[in-house]
Amino acid sequence: MKATLEERFRKKLLKAGKKNRVCRMAVLPVMAVGMFFFHAAKYMAANGKRLAILPMTLLLFVFYSSFSFPLFVSGARGDNGLSVISDEAQAIELATEAQINLEDMELLDEPGYDESGYEGEFPIETAEAAPDSEAEDDIPETGGIDISQEFSRDDWRLLLVNKQHSIPEDYEFTLGAVNTVKGTMYCDERIIEDWLAMKQAAKEDGVTLVICSPYRDTDRQEVLFNNKITAYMGRGMSYIEAFQLSGQAVTVPGASEHQVGLALDIVTPSFQNLVEEFEETDAGVWLAENSYQYGFILRYPKGKEYITCIQYEPWHFRYVGREAAAVIWELGITLEEFWEEL
Ligand SMILES: [Zn+2]
Repeated sequence: MKATLEERFRKKLLKAGKKNRVCRMAVLPVMAVGMFFFHAAKYMAANGKRLAILPMTLLLFVFYSSFSFPLFVSGARGDNGLSVISDEAQAIELATEAQINLEDMELLDEPGYDESGYEGEFPIETAEAAPDSEAEDDIPETGGIDISQEFSRDDWRLLLVNKQHSIPEDYEFTLGAVNTVKGTMYCDERIIEDWLAMKQAAKEDGVTLVICSPYRDTDRQEVLFNNKITAYMGRGMSYIEAFQLSGQAVTVPGASEHQVGLALDIVTPSFQNLVEEFEETDAGVWLAENSYQYGFILRYPKGKEYITCIQYEPWHFRYVGREAAAVIWELGITLEEFWEEL
């Protein structure tokens, strides 16, 4: 009986192979695998071993899992694009991100590129991923303030703009004129009152504050970014290396708070360089200690680069409103961490 069954099986496969050219390629391996299991089963049955089912099940499992592994990997992505499984799967995930990176770099040259295309492709994003997952634990006690109750993500003052959150396409605001070292420039008109109040308060403390650069439109941001890439490439770097370094020094186009007029680069007449040493000037010290009272926060603090993905900028202040600024200052957190709580 068994021999007949085997014979029939073999005949059927051969027939299928003859009928269809494509099938022919598959017939031999299928037949080999089929024969293997058939003979294994026959051998075990002949030896009367009841436990034979166990190794057979194991064999089947090993056979199937070797094929199902790639499916498992592609199905395991979280919504945020981060892999949630093994190291091996994560390596595959990272390779995918690198490819996206290349495509987006080409978009840079086109003025009307889709800003949302920049999501999730950034150089130090992977470094950020680990601490971010523990962000909730990192945030200190809020001193009785329930951030999610008091504040809302819909508040224009709390608009989060970074490499992961590009400017909403329908975002609108009105520019208001401010005096800067380069003459009259513009920022969101709603922040001017608090800026002037801060400037006046500093003056009363003997500190002169002056805006270096407020609002930048997308084109200007792009020029700055491309200049940086050119400069790095001039030092012998590849385009990819230059792109990644520029992303840490100048904000990637489409991801800058300067484009929504909510950020001010503030200096003082005696020291107008946008360098780390600014923190030691009277203005740098005064701003770090007092800006929150007027609704401004030091947006890219030292030691929080793994969260902001931007190097320390003691001159870059972001308007978030007085209430939020006080909370952020007191807790010593970044806008990203604050926003997570909303
Ligand atoms: Zn800035």
